[in-house]
Amino acid sequence: MTTDQQVESPDWEDQLQTPVQFVRGVGPERAKLLEKLDLRVAIDLLYNAPRDVLDLSNVRTPAELEAGVQQSVCGSVVDTESRRTSNGKTISAVLIRSGRAFVRGVWFNQPWVLKKFFQDNVVLFSGKPKMNSGRWEFSNPHTQWLELDDASSADGLPVAVIPRYGLTDGLKMYEIRRAIKAAVEDYVDLVPELLSPECLAAWKLPGIREAIQNLHLPKSMGEYRAGYRRLVFQDLVEFQLAIELRRRVWWSGVPAPKMPCTAKIDSRIRRLFPFEMTAGQNQAIADIVADLNAGRPMHRLLQADVGSGKTAIAMYAILVAIANGHQTALMTPTELLATQHWQTIDKALAHSRVKRRMLTGNLTPAQRQKALEEIRSGDVQLIVGTQALIQKGVQFSNLGLVVIDEQHKFGVGQRAQFSTGTQSPHVLVMTATPIPRSLCLTQFGDLDLTTMSDMPPGRQEVKTYRVYNANTRKRAWKFVRERLQEGRQVYVVCPRVGETEDSDPQLQLSFDEEFPELSDKPAAIQEELIGSAEELFEDLQKNELKGFSVGMVHGRMNAQAKADAMEAFRSGETQALVSTTVIEVGVDVSNASVMVIQQAERFGLSQLHQLRGRIGRGKHQGFCFLFSDASATEVVKRLSAMEKYTDGFKIAEVDFDLRGPGDILGSRQHGALPLRFGHLIKDRQLVEETRQAAIELVKSGQFDGPLLAPLKSAVLDRFAELMDLPRSG
Ligand code: ADP
Ligand code: MG
Repeated sequence: MTTDQQVESPDWEDQLQTPVQFVRGVGPERAKLLEKLDLRVAIDLLYNAPRDVLDLSNVRTPAELEAGVQQSVCGSVVDTESRRTSNGKTISAVLIRSGRAFVRGVWFNQPWVLKKFFQDNVVLFSGKPKMNSGRWEFSNPHTQWLELDDASSADGLPVAVIPRYGLTDGLKMYEIRRAIKAAVEDYVDLVPELLSPECLAAWKLPGIREAIQNLHLPKSMGEYRAGYRRLVFQDLVEFQLAIELRRRVWWSGVPAPKMPCTAKIDSRIRRLFPFEMTAGQNQAIADIVADLNAGRPMHRLLQADVGSGKTAIAMYAILVAIANGHQTALMTPTELLATQHWQTIDKALAHSRVKRRMLTGNLTPAQRQKALEEIRSGDVQLIVGTQALIQKGVQFSNLGLVVIDEQHKFGVGQRAQFSTGTQSPHVLVMTATPIPRSLCLTQFGDLDLTTMSDMPPGRQEVKTYRVYNANTRKRAWKFVRERLQEGRQVYVVCPRVGETEDSDPQLQLSFDEEFPELSDKPAAIQEELIGSAEELFEDLQKNELKGFSVGMVHGRMNAQAKADAMEAFRSGETQALVSTTVIEVGVDVSNASVMVIQQAERFGLSQLHQLRGRIGRGKHQGFCFLFSDASATEVVKRLSAMEKYTDGFKIAEVDFDLRGPGDILGSRQHGALPLRFGHLIKDRQLVEETRQAAIELVKSGQFDGPLLAPLKSAVLDRFAELMDLPRSG
């Protein structure tokens, strides 16, 4: 992380730009190593965020431990062992020596934890211990590995709280710590304060120098946290200010048609639905109605969990636009979803005069030609389709609104292709992937956000179970058969179509790509669980689902066959549907209340959440079984998260923690976000606070005033290029 250098900088800045080599006690050898960590000049050391902090303030000797109280104990590893209990569980134990006593850490069913412990490692167990046969025992302790020098080299540091930094080969913790300590002592007084005293007071932040001091040389956890908060806050507020500047640019851009929604239009549209809108739906509609009549293009992201009723909102917006004489397009990531939307809409509009058409990739050339002509002439008012909608040759006569469903499957570039010149269409993007506001702003430029958090009445949470051995698998299938006998239906999802190829062509985020390190699972185990839809389709009819009618749908079938298979399932003609992830988004069969996912470890978390969203849509309790024999830590963590959480946001958080921010939306190329301290999900409270702060600063004009000039130029230095902001402000 380097800071931008100004050509003509005042003296104090020059000193902060002192190459690390010349920071007291560093020298050329260590400087080379520090540079590998992007620590090139003195100020980089000051702004180097600790990777974590060791809190030694509640470390006890074994003699001081109390049962059931949160505390830590430090010791060196003397032994590890793993054994099976009579009921098939494994218990793994690590014995550490602390002074003259021994303390044990134990883990259940996580044999892999032992791989991380080696003889003589110095570790810190934290948790609530209990006495077990005369010895203190921590079960599932939070464990930190101490560097040999963690305690001893603290030299001069107050020992209770010790920040730890990322390292590189050849660089020792005490070396980087010493370099940072020297930098703080010699340079911290030169760091410029970018925030005005008013800001510091309003946001309850310490000054920058105090914050840096507290971050690296804290005397207590409280000091450390206060310092850290200031740096996160500043990081995020700069980012949010850049977004506000971006928005200001946007507001002065091309106009869009005004589309008022009169009371008459409103009541005509509402009549089409067999239900009352939920409060959340009404709010979303209000946001959209305001946007459509604002005279500038709507750019709104509607974010709501699977099953919350986004389609109705899309229809509402579409019908407002049509009532105002404009063409509209509804775009989906898959043909299956396009077909489904088409059926829903076609049915709802059965008695209306709206001229509508479906445009997908598998029309005959003649059909396509005709469709294109109608679109060009303005004959068609609503076009439903896939990416085929934005291919060359599609020319709209009067496009006023584009609705994009399940946006996370579309790239940013694709969205831009609708812009036409003098007027831009309104764009509504819908997704069930919960994306923190700031993350979607960077990903998509500058979307406004509507989050809908309620569900249509009567929804139940899907109960989810991780099924990891043959025995429980038998029981799960028995359970499935019982539900089928009661008249319910079941989805059985496989990661692959056939035996050989790796994944369904429609599978967007392949597990192997995501986690190459986890994909070499032992062959013997893999054989037990069938991953291919075609194979399982055969197998189920002979074995677990003998006597039930089983259908199949996957991405390699042609569109007609897919539609037929879905129709057979929807009508109840088939009771079980073996499928790949083609059913991931949007498919809606309310009698299907059970889902079995084969080789669940091969799916991403957000994918599993999407898949699971297909069930529990009607009045029946939904059940989801995640079949997986894989025992890698990450897999277990991911699947357990599915068991534990039904809230898409929570799942996104776990996903984010395991994968990092780069790829929540599947657009890998976007790269890491330009944040130094802040974490868009972990710090989401501050993300929201800083957003408010940024809006306020820009709106009140303070941001353009002299007091915050240094902050503004820092923001532009960081973000002007990335977000295409004019330097003039
Ligand atoms: P999403 O696209 O958000 O995942 P859908 O639009 O497919 O959800 O809606 C899921 C189901 O809920 C559909 O069967 C739809 O008819 C139904 N639904 C939507 N809104 C309501 C409502 N306000 N009251 C009752 N049912 C609703
Ligand atoms: Mg949907």
